[in-house]
Amino acid sequence: MKYLLLALVVLWLLYSPAVRGRLRGQPRHKADSGKPTGRPGTEGGQPAKPAQADRIEPCAHCGVHLPVSEALHDIGGRVYCSEAHRLAGPRV
Ligand SMILES: [Zn+2]
Repeated sequence: MKYLLLALVVLWLLYSPAVRGRLRGQPRHKADSGKPTGRPGTEGGQPAKPAQADRIEPCAHCGVHLPVSEALHDIGGRVYCSEAHRLAGPRV
């Protein structure tokens, strides 16, 4: 019976730091995921594909430069700053 209690104490000592760490880490993780970034795969503070997402290209209609992640694309792959310019098409 003594050994059973000892084993329980040892198990508790082994698992309690992990449990505490998880309980401590969860609110922080929730606070991080609660930010309005809305991008998945940002665990560990490393954004996914930063170069591609933040590439700057000019609108094919008015020429204003904008991040590709915020741009609209037509079938030809041209970049537009807004739905109106996408419908208007590229400026000739
Ligand atoms: Zn435009």
